[in-house]
Amino acid sequence: MELFFDTAFGRLGKKALDFQKLRAEVQAQYIAHLASYTEYASLYGGSTNPAHQIKVGYFDSSKPNGCAAILDGQDIIGISSEVPKLKEGLFREIIEQPFFAEIPDHEQEGAVSWLGDCAQHFLFWHELAHVWNGHTSFQAKAGVLFIDELSAVSDKLGNLDYQTMEMDADGFAAATSFNHLSRFAFPHRLTAIEGKLGPGTTSLTLGMVAIYLLFRLFDAAADFDDEERKSHPSPPLRQRLIAGSLAAQAKRSGAMEERAALSIVLAAAHLGENLYADSRRIPRDSNAFDEALGERGDLYQRKLLRHWRVLRPQLDVLKRRGTLVPVQDIPDET
Ligand SMILES: [Zn+2]
Repeated sequence: MELFFDTAFGRLGKKALDFQKLRAEVQAQYIAHLASYTEYASLYGGSTNPAHQIKVGYFDSSKPNGCAAILDGQDIIGISSEVPKLKEGLFREIIEQPFFAEIPDHEQEGAVSWLGDCAQHFLFWHELAHVWNGHTSFQAKAGVLFIDELSAVSDKLGNLDYQTMEMDADGFAAATSFNHLSRFAFPHRLTAIEGKLGPGTTSLTLGMVAIYLLFRLFDAAADFDDEERKSHPSPPLRQRLIAGSLAAQAKRSGAMEERAALSIVLAAAHLGENLYADSRRIPRDSNAFDEALGERGDLYQRKLLRHWRVLRPQLDVLKRRGTLVPVQDIPDET
C-alpha cells in the first residue's frame, strides 16, 4: 500500500507520509483514522456501488489539506499529515476553555475526539464528494490531474467551475456530517448551549463549531472574488454555504425546521469564533463571516447555484452511481 502511495502522490507532486518516522503511538492514531476513512468510503460505496473502491492515504504537509484524483482509473483520496494533529492542538485547546467546564473529567477525552472527528470527517467527506460526485472525472476529461484544496491547479477549467464543485463537495460533506452527528451525539449535553438554543441542540451546535474552526484556521477575509481568480470560495463564504447546507439537511431529514436549524448553526459559528479567540488570546473577529452572510454573500451564492444548473448535468453522467445527497436547496430568486 505504501509503495502505491509513494508512486501515486509522486505523480500528484506530493510526498506520501512516511509512517516509519512517526512515534509508535502517533502511528497507531494515524492508522486508526485511516481505517475509519476507508470504512466510510466503503460504507458509502456499499449502499450505492459496493464494487467501487477508493484508496485513501496520507501525504506530507504542514497544513490541513486534502486532495482527490483519479489515476489510471483508480480513485484516490489524500489527506494531509497535519489533519490528525488538529485534535491534539486546536480541539484540545477549545475543550479546555471555561465554556466547557461542565463536562466531567472522564468525558473530556471523548469530547476532544468528537470535535476532532467532526472536522476530520468533514474534510474526508468533502474529498469523497470530489470523487463520488464525478468532479475528478470531469477534471480528468479536461486534462487536469487532481483537485488540491490549497492551490489552483489549472486554467483548463474556469474558476467558476471549480468554485461550484467546491460548493457541491461542501454541501455533500455538510449533509453527511449532519446525518453522522445525529447518530453519534457529543458525549455530554451542555446546559450552556441547550439553555439558550433549546433541548437536543448540543451536537448540531458543536458540529458546526468544529467545521467553523477548521476554516477559521485560514484567517481569511470574505473576499467575494468577483473576478473569479480563485479555485475555492473564500473560507468565510464556505462557512456560510456549509451553515446553509446543514440547515437544509436538518429539514430534509425531518429533524427540524430549516429556519430553526439555521439559527442554531449561525449561533454556533459565533460561539466558534468566541472559543477560538479565547483559546488563542486574540480579539474576537466575526467580521468576515458576518460579511459572508450579507448581501454580497447572497449574490455570490446565487451565482454558484446558477452555474450549478449548467454543471450538474455534465457531472451526473460521471458519478460513481447511486443516489447522491443533493446540493442545498436554496430558492433562487433571480
Ligand atoms: Zn475541494
